[in-house]
Amino acid sequence: MYWPIRPHILPDELFSSWICRIASTYELKPHTLRKLISPDKPIWTRDTDRQDIDSISTKLSALTAIDKKLILNTSLKSYTGSLSEKVNSDGVSPWLLPLGIYHRNRKHCGLQFCPFCLANDKVPYFRKQWRLAFIIVCPKHRTNLLEKCMSCGEPVNLFQNTTHCNNLISCFKCHSFYSDFTSNISSKELCCYSDLWTKGLDNSWINLRGNQYVYSIGYFKVLRRLVHILISRRERCSNLLPKLLGKDSLKLTEKHRIIEFYSLSSRVIVIYALLLLLQNWPHHLIEIFKENRIWHSWVLGDHAKDLPYWFTSIIGENLGYFNYTPNNEELYFAQKYCNIKHPRAKQTFTKRYLAHSKSPI
Ligand SMILES: [Zn+2]
Ligand SMILES: [Zn+2]
Repeated sequence: MYWPIRPHILPDELFSSWICRIASTYELKPHTLRKLISPDKPIWTRDTDRQDIDSISTKLSALTAIDKKLILNTSLKSYTGSLSEKVNSDGVSPWLLPLGIYHRNRKHCGLQFCPFCLANDKVPYFRKQWRLAFIIVCPKHRTNLLEKCMSCGEPVNLFQNTTHCNNLISCFKCHSFYSDFTSNISSKELCCYSDLWTKGLDNSWINLRGNQYVYSIGYFKVLRRLVHILISRRERCSNLLPKLLGKDSLKLTEKHRIIEFYSLSSRVIVIYALLLLLQNWPHHLIEIFKENRIWHSWVLGDHAKDLPYWFTSIIGENLGYFNYTPNNEELYFAQKYCNIKHPRAKQTFTKRYLAHSKSPI
């Protein structure tokens, strides 16, 4: 038998958002609704949006008359095949912001929001794309997203809300309305890229340049690899951010090197630098990497097999310094020059400038 009131799933709505709206409709706490639908599975104490919701979707489909496929599409698992090969239920999952659930608390700000979307929605709801680490702006309002309550600093926690009226848009701790907050205007480039990336996730392909289209799964792997270079501890890599963004650019405060755990303000810095690398693809990236002596092996690391050919071939052809082996004649004259100019640096010279440790002398 169907429930008498059955809230529709809204465009790009997140599973947890839809569940909380249903609970709100019946003036129930989300926890109580969970007990009614799935008494044996405590889904609220884990990241519900990253769990397998197949069995609960069958039940919900039977209760709401909504197609099961639509319900399954509200889960972050639906990004499997377009964002990454696998969406992990726990731990790090590429490009998905973690909630850091500890009992029922949230240690991380894993659910971002646009206050203007929430204020203008006929029925306010949370979007799936707000869980993505590379989405930092709202393309619709051209403003930066927010990641926590601006009054008390707590992350969004939909299930912790004990009030059932409008609980989706009020902070569970201080009850401030997220829709009352404001945020800054964002750059046009960031908005364009956000649009391109979210459309890429929907289509599973992305326009790389001109008429070249690539699978989104490979594209997002490449973006994550480039971000890894931008936030690497290596000195020459860590110099890239100030070189790309200017000497006065803000510094990253995070000590670790996993982009999904970065705060929104740090991700803004990294993603903005990433956009600059992507400009005039691939010429700007090659120019910057060559100029800063970012080696082929640093870019590809042990991941060459996992990365798409359109990327590895560009890196191999342009930064594959180690593929070149100088002949004995070149080494002889190079070291002869070195002996005159820098008598003490025989081996170092050939190793550094010819990328080779062999000595003919
Ligand atoms: Zn918005
Ligand atoms: Zn608050």
